[in-house]
Amino acid sequence: MKIADLTALDLATEPRSSLGDTVPFFFYRYVTLFAIADSMGARATGALEEAGRKAGEQLVKGMFYRTPEDLAEHYRQHGMGLLSVDDLEENRWRATLRECATCHGLPNVDMALCWFDAGLLAGAFQGMFGASLPPGSPPIEVVEEACVGLGDNECVFKIEPMLRVVEGV
Ligand SMILES: [Zn+2]
Repeated sequence: MKIADLTALDLATEPRSSLGDTVPFFFYRYVTLFAIADSMGARATGALEEAGRKAGEQLVKGMFYRTPEDLAEHYRQHGMGLLSVDDLEENRWRATLRECATCHGLPNVDMALCWFDAGLLAGAFQGMFGASLPPGSPPIEVVEEACVGLGDNECVFKIEPMLRVVEGV
């Protein structure tokens, strides 16, 4: 097997016999935030977003999540944060994330940080709702509009079909 072939189910192995299946969230933050802060910069944010997208797609395809409530339950169960999703109008949503594993309690660093979550929401919403979008719609994309990293109290994500803005091109 190649690493590109790993699925969500391959990663969700039996818990370790002594240590179980959780790690402290500072460990997760070492991986995500230090990668963004250090040499990888913009490449890290893109990579985290793509990783999130793949995870979100697999939650729908492989684990049969069907609704934003399923996703919110996944977030809660796995300590990823307290997610709530509002329907704004047809095919437009707003997700709010409190107690976010990535950014809760951090100082204002003048940057939205939750690239993995933005990608996960994009992948999951595309999987759940992409087939019912009007023909010719662009894919569902996510923009993090508020983040603890920007000095906000919680993270807010705009979710809707939109043309992707690629930075630095
Ligand atoms: Zn955030």
